[in-house]
Amino acid sequence: MSLELLFLGTGTSAGVPMIGCDCDVCRSTDPRDQRTRPSVLIRYPDPSPAPRRYDGSPVPASPPRQFLIDAGPDMRVQLIRHRVHRLDGVLFTHTHADHVMGIDDLRRINAVMNGPVQIYAEPAALQTLRAMFFYIFESHRNVNSSFVATLIPQPIKPAQPLDLFGARWTPIRLLHGRLPILGFRVDYPADPADPDAATHSLAYCTDVSGIPPETYPLLRDLDVLVVDALRYHHHPTHMTVDQALGVIEQLGPRRAYLTHVAHDIQHADLEARLPDHVFLAFDGLTVDVPSIAPD
Ligand SMILES: [Zn+2]
Ligand SMILES: [Zn+2]
Ligand SMILES: [Zn+2]
Repeated sequence: MSLELLFLGTGTSAGVPMIGCDCDVCRSTDPRDQRTRPSVLIRYPDPSPAPRRYDGSPVPASPPRQFLIDAGPDMRVQLIRHRVHRLDGVLFTHTHADHVMGIDDLRRINAVMNGPVQIYAEPAALQTLRAMFFYIFESHRNVNSSFVATLIPQPIKPAQPLDLFGARWTPIRLLHGRLPILGFRVDYPADPADPDAATHSLAYCTDVSGIPPETYPLLRDLDVLVVDALRYHHHPTHMTVDQALGVIEQLGPRRAYLTHVAHDIQHADLEARLPDHVFLAFDGLTVDVPSIAPD
């Protein structure tokens, strides 16, 4: 059993191509240069033992658990493109528009699953979401009764892990300029029958310009690290490619992927220059953790 990471979107807040830009990357015909707003889907089979009926026959296995990290303005297209019809939860890193503006479309998940969607975020982020989407969270005040999303807010805190269907999710503190936000580490049992066995692990660190000292221990021993690499030159709230490579070298994951990429970076050009274990993510890329993806 393994953990699967699907890059739904790998672009920066404006997406690539950008409205009104004629640069080489925005006009590129390489599909990897077409980047929707940043989001990933993390999918894994529920490792708990399959229940059995009275006659001993197994109950059909439930579909893999699926979690979204962030629900940006391209979420609808991303979920349709990858035929994602159900979600066991959405975890939010922070409340910038490129990470939350798909929330309205979660009502389709409500309709398909016939149930609410759990949303996980820090208390301050949940408060911001309530203000931005007041018609969802205070639907009794709407002039007309209409079908809005049903979301169940679940407050989370850095370094306080959650068990979500057998995987351990640890929210980790990151700095996005001066704004404290969250990244996520997921540890999944390599052998569900043996709770002491090793875990497969990944961490997703988007929109980060600084990693506070208390976070470093939470990013050790990773199979896969995903990290922000906006562009080549300095930005106050995102890492550059060189800064991201420095963090990767310091933390030593088995593999690393760069995301939240702006139009300054041409996929084929940068990919050819990266170290062997570092890759530039692109929309639609699926990574098995820990199997090494074929070239
Ligand atoms: Zn962003
Ligand atoms: Zn451009
Ligand atoms: Zn942001």
